[in-house]
Amino acid sequence: MFYSRYFIPTVKETPSDAEVISHQLMLRAGMIRKLAAGIYNYLPLGLRSIRKFEAIVREEMNRADAIEMLMPSVQPAELWQESGRWTFYGKELLRFKDRKDNDFCMGPTHEEVITDMVRREIKSYRQMPINFYQIQTKFRDEIRPRFGLMRGREFIMKDAYSFDVDSAAADGSYNKMFNAYHRIFERCGLNFRAVEADTGSIGGSSSHEFMVLADSGEDAIVSCDACRYAANVEKAEARPLQPTVGVELLSLEKKATPEMKTIVDVAAFLGMSTDKTIKTLVYASDAGEFVMAILRGDHELNEIKLKNSMGWDEIRMATEEEILQITGSPIGFLGPLGLKRPVPVLADLAVQSLANTVIGANEKDMHYINANPGRDFAPDRYIDLRNVQSGDACPRCENGKLEMWRGIEVGHVFKLGTKYSQALNATYLDADGKEQTIFMGCYGIGIGRTVAAAIEQNHDENGIIFPLPIAPFHCSVVAVNAKDAGVMAAAEEIYFKLEKLGIEVLFDDRDERPGVKFKDNDLIGIPLRLVVGSKGLAEGKIELKVRKTGEVLQLPIEAAIEQVRQLVADALGCGN
Ligand code: ATP
Ligand code: MG
Repeated sequence: MFYSRYFIPTVKETPSDAEVISHQLMLRAGMIRKLAAGIYNYLPLGLRSIRKFEAIVREEMNRADAIEMLMPSVQPAELWQESGRWTFYGKELLRFKDRKDNDFCMGPTHEEVITDMVRREIKSYRQMPINFYQIQTKFRDEIRPRFGLMRGREFIMKDAYSFDVDSAAADGSYNKMFNAYHRIFERCGLNFRAVEADTGSIGGSSSHEFMVLADSGEDAIVSCDACRYAANVEKAEARPLQPTVGVELLSLEKKATPEMKTIVDVAAFLGMSTDKTIKTLVYASDAGEFVMAILRGDHELNEIKLKNSMGWDEIRMATEEEILQITGSPIGFLGPLGLKRPVPVLADLAVQSLANTVIGANEKDMHYINANPGRDFAPDRYIDLRNVQSGDACPRCENGKLEMWRGIEVGHVFKLGTKYSQALNATYLDADGKEQTIFMGCYGIGIGRTVAAAIEQNHDENGIIFPLPIAPFHCSVVAVNAKDAGVMAAAEEIYFKLEKLGIEVLFDDRDERPGVKFKDNDLIGIPLRLVVGSKGLAEGKIELKVRKTGEVLQLPIEAAIEQVRQLVADALGCGN
């Protein structure tokens, strides 16, 4: 590609509305432009990276026996009503009517459409296992679209859906996708983890998220430093603590704690550390049910664990008014003892290990000290309710400690069981001619989000450092002085030689100062750069620079070309 005939509108200034580095750099490198909130034009350079990543995804999906198809983005409401999601999906589902007043939506995902196709076409156990995938545009009316392609409203996703005769066969399909995802993100040279993830209201079945590690990631994840356990903090299990033994239980006593509303204040006032105290929270469901959760003072409630343990679809904190009705007390002095209106009390497992602890007395400015679980208060259930913390013992192995990371969710694999096949009546006839329900799995990868995540993980002060497999071009050839006919002729020859070798080259033939060219080439993150100048040419040499390491080599022309060929082959290697 000749730079002068191409379109790369780079920008010097950091755009003010871009918070994360990948968004800033994609704008500055002329990869994307915003059309409306969460809706972007993919400019030529951005599209090249997107297409590169799509090609890797396609290859690995095909290798794992998934079959490509394409479903429409406009979907009829009837299917969503059948699955029950027309009402459940909420405002993220963009709904509209056609001229005949029929309801439609823009597809945020395609379980309904594919299940409808399959229930019409798949009739026999002989037609399974089968897995369909597509790379297609989704629309989700996200409440807070942000970070460029990372959280758009319109975005490209690869989604796959597997269909199997039973749960064990579905596990097999799931494992195949799980392995394919590993290959995909490995081939892109990304530092990632597959973590156990919450399955939300679908429950029971299992799910993994693929997380690219990056400080700006929206998800907190943990991994064990000794075994393979890794999980989203939303889901990560806390290992029960050792019970406290041999402590003399003192008598319960009510104590004034004037204006001490936070657990930190209360603990300091009583001269204790927060891990010896209890904090109390009250939550509500959409249906108007309530629950009281009690945790060790230094622990953080995991709302998803609480929501799942109550079997609720949604959860929110109770209002001050509701708390007053339930406990008779203003916030800050809540506890499980002496409620005005009984609600279920759930305690985190760690509460069991406390002795002579502190709880709110459900009375303004009052707490109990020397409260002992079992003796003074008895929660309805002890369950795992807290977020794990860095350094916690691993729930799976004996010696491991949990480490915390930030991650960007780029992929998600999910065992669906019969949730959609049951709702849409997708059945097949087994070997005995008996009708059975199909088992499903679904598997998503955010295409644009992965490219953005790759930039988030690979950049420096000069710009993007693309992993070669998803770089818009493998190599650039920079002619230092476009006015020098000798330099231009030599650079052009090198360009054509590389192209012939199957290397994707951006030939910077622009009549610009070398500094401008180098800056742009750094910014757009092309992994390899050959610089052709009159001085070097006089000695028959050109310069090879590796963007990632900064390594610079002066090499004879043919040797430089061979070196580029080798480096490209190595970087693409694991795909072959
Ligand atoms: P998130 O929790 O980030 O909203 P999700 O759980 O809603 O994601 P899935 O339904 O699992 O996402 O979608 C599959 C993949 O699609 C995600 O792993 C992610 O890579 C991508 N994706 C989801 N929402 C967006 C979005 N708004 N913009 C870009 N990519 C997205
Ligand atoms: Mg997800």
